[in-house]
Amino acid sequence: MRRAIYPGSFDPVTFGHIDMIERSARMVDELVVAVLNNSAKNPLFSVEERVSMLEGITSHVPNVKIRYFDGLLIDYAKEIEATIIIRGLRAVTDFEYELQIAQTNRIVNSEIDTIFLTTSLEYAYLSSTIVKEVASYGGDISHFVPKQLIPQIYEKYKG
Ligand code: ADP
Repeated sequence: MRRAIYPGSFDPVTFGHIDMIERSARMVDELVVAVLNNSAKNPLFSVEERVSMLEGITSHVPNVKIRYFDGLLIDYAKEIEATIIIRGLRAVTDFEYELQIAQTNRIVNSEIDTIFLTTSLEYAYLSSTIVKEVASYGGDISHFVPKQLIPQIYEKYKG
């Protein structure tokens, strides 16, 4: 069985992430979307909120599981017996950092490979940071995230 892991902060999940999940799920038997539980990043949404958002918007993809992890991705990938790490590349600016991480991971565990998917053109500009920036000013985020998540995102900026 070919199991892949798609890690990220997903703070919050965007159409760009959903596109990556749908495309990578088609290439493997099982895709584990792994939410990084890293308090140092000071996320807007708790890990439970991010897991629940992801579960809600990926229910149409049968071979996807949503999990969270602490610590090193490469250790978690081994623990769940994933042999592929999926990462997205939006622009060359993503590349240098991602290359370094992928090479480091190969040195730590040569049985796990990283596969990069290039972003779909319509989402090339999109990031969780952009969503938060626009939402913090009460702007329209309907082009960036699924409709059902919008109230939950605005809620964080109330008061
Ligand atoms: P991280 O904190 O790990 O960068 P993100 O939640 O920002 O986590 O992104 C998770 C993964 O999804 C990364 O591989 C990132 O490159 C990819 N990604 C984010 N936004 C997009 C997008 N708009 N199109 C394609 N891939 C994306």
